[in-house]
Amino acid sequence: MAPPSRKAGRRIRVLLPLPLEGAYDYRLPPELAAGPGSFVEVPLGGRVSLGVVWDELENAEPIAESRLREVISVKPAPAMHANLRRLVDWVAAYTLSPPGAVLRMAMSSPSALEEPASASGWRRVEGAEARITPDRAKVLDILANHTLPGTEIARAAGVSMGVVRGLASVGLIEPALMARAAAFPRPIADFAPPDLRDEQQLAANALRETVISRQYGVTLLEGVTGSGKTEVYLDAVAQCLREGRQALVLLPEIALSTQWLARFERRFGAPPALWHSELSSRTRRVTWRAVAEGDAPVLVGARSALFLPFPDLGLIIVDEEHETAFKQEEGVIYLARDMAVVRARLESALCVLVSATPSLETVTNAKDGRYAHVTLPTRHHGASLPQITAIDLRQHPPERGRFLAPPLVQAVTETLARGEQAMLFLNRRGYAPLTLCRTCGHRMQCPNCTAWLVEHRAQRRLQCHHCGHTAPTPLACVECGTEHSLVPIGPGVERILEEVTELFPEARRLIMASDTIPGPAAAAEAARRIEEREVDLIIGTQIVAKGWHFPHLTLVGVVDADLGLAGGDLRAGERTMQLLHQVAGRAGREGATPGTVLLQTFSPEHPVMMALVADDMPGFLKAEAAQRAPGHWPPFGRLAALIVSSEDPRSAERAARDLGLAAPTGQGIQVLGPAPAPLSLLRGRHRHRLLLKAERGIRVQPVLEDWLARAQIPRDVRVQVDVDPVGFM
Ligand code: ADP
Ligand code: ZN
Repeated sequence: MAPPSRKAGRRIRVLLPLPLEGAYDYRLPPELAAGPGSFVEVPLGGRVSLGVVWDELENAEPIAESRLREVISVKPAPAMHANLRRLVDWVAAYTLSPPGAVLRMAMSSPSALEEPASASGWRRVEGAEARITPDRAKVLDILANHTLPGTEIARAAGVSMGVVRGLASVGLIEPALMARAAAFPRPIADFAPPDLRDEQQLAANALRETVISRQYGVTLLEGVTGSGKTEVYLDAVAQCLREGRQALVLLPEIALSTQWLARFERRFGAPPALWHSELSSRTRRVTWRAVAEGDAPVLVGARSALFLPFPDLGLIIVDEEHETAFKQEEGVIYLARDMAVVRARLESALCVLVSATPSLETVTNAKDGRYAHVTLPTRHHGASLPQITAIDLRQHPPERGRFLAPPLVQAVTETLARGEQAMLFLNRRGYAPLTLCRTCGHRMQCPNCTAWLVEHRAQRRLQCHHCGHTAPTPLACVECGTEHSLVPIGPGVERILEEVTELFPEARRLIMASDTIPGPAAAAEAARRIEEREVDLIIGTQIVAKGWHFPHLTLVGVVDADLGLAGGDLRAGERTMQLLHQVAGRAGREGATPGTVLLQTFSPEHPVMMALVADDMPGFLKAEAAQRAPGHWPPFGRLAALIVSSEDPRSAERAARDLGLAAPTGQGIQVLGPAPAPLSLLRGRHRHRLLLKAERGIRVQPVLEDWLARAQIPRDVRVQVDVDPVGFM
């Protein structure tokens, strides 16, 4: 047999955006030019895949020269920078994900890799002569120094398209390609800066210095709600613009951030680029490309924006850094707040973590000197912080069948009488979280999840908030068949609305929940109605806690302050404190009228309630730290969870048990579980959990890799690895 002919070209590594073990080898034919970071098209099995030329990764078995397949083409797009390639490698190694799965997040708009189409327009032909009418003269004037599309010419000159076509037919104008307009106008650093107060100026100066130094740094910007944290970090954004570097702002709920966006535009004279999951594919393409070409000076986005191809990133802001929305729980499981710090290090950039209620993790990092710490202790406008009081529901029970205690009803009555706005907060959508049969005790449950079905009375349906399963509310119990026997147990926001409709029939009411405020337009409209006092009483879920600024809102009532404390999650207390503090911070934001916050609770002596009433967050965090440190709970130790799931309950249980038997042992390492997950059935999959706890000095990744390599995982079982878990369901 003849030896295979040696073909020309060199061997390169290509990482594909697929969950494969590592990069694959290909041959780059001599007529193609590509280096590390180039986007290329390569054959994969019987199809063509996009990929990125990767660096010299170790590959267990480089394939033989003779079997190398050829790169098909190189994409006309800026190469992926080494910084972003290192981030992909880093996140993959940290989260134990295949590098290709992380790469996919950095290639979120494949069509952006094509050459953007240049639009065609018309330009003057110099020296051409023909009859000139007044209409034709107007067109020629407009085209004196521009190339423009026909429709735009006609509009600007006030003539019909016929005039434009006529000029073309006599040879006075000709088709030409237009220069692409910048997709995003440049925000202007000094467009309308506020006069910062002394304490704000000090904080801003500290951030500016690091931006100017072009060195890596992390700063915790901590300040009470309404103290001007946003103004201060926008000053750092302005400095970053002056440096000519790009800035990235991560917001937890970008779809609800219309007030923030309007403010940005007032401050900088231009809107920022946006990045979130609801963009059209065209906007994604244009934005991704503009970022890659350095033409999007400021971008605000959801956590996925962290993987955009900024060529020169100088600043990353993580606003509301304590928010769980920064955790991605599917696919590559990662916490964007922590990965933002990693990216800042790779980019020699400043990362600012912003919060009124920073996480214990971040506070500890600041205390230990790993992060710088700047604080804004007072509210702007001399507005005082709201006065928080607990209502003990044991002493002040609501009337039968109601959920608002008399002191809260009284406070709402007085607030409305003064012509001010009130808000009732309950973090539960729908009418009632549980529907029960009075006759047989049956509870209406989701067939796919370990969860009760939530009644949505307006739609006459029962809904699972985990998998989306819905069914019409039955007239008779599905178990015993008794008619009119199903009763709602407990309140959701719809039920509170029903109660206030009876109590305050003339108040204008608005529900704010993810199902009534589905997107940016609805959010903007709700905010406008509240700002312009078309609403007296707001009833909302956690979406009302986001950074809204409602100047006429003076009373916040928390219907069930104990709600988040059940469940025994490691951070349940911390979370509840943060959420309630954030909700409370909506009250009394304008100087004139101080805010009042009333917490309905069965346990006013709980440390969370005590800290809120005494306005003592540092004290609360200190107590939290004292509780977590001895057992090496985060941030004084490390956690990683394994979530074992299968459609077959026996497979899931057996695999979890096998993992338990193979569990690592050793100094400073402990494995808890396996145990059925609190959500033991989710979307039809049976779930078990194991939790690895390690002392702070131990790297958990090698321990996890060893562990997983020792266990036999059958094909019908999935094991998800969650390093630094945030949720424990
Ligand atoms: P935070 O982000 O800490 O909640 P904001 O930055 O939203 O606080 O500030 C609260 C309100 O006070 C906003 O309406 C903001 O525009 C205003 N504000 C804060 N600082 C100043 C300032 N120096 N000059 C003018 N307005 C300010
Ligand atoms: Zn379900």
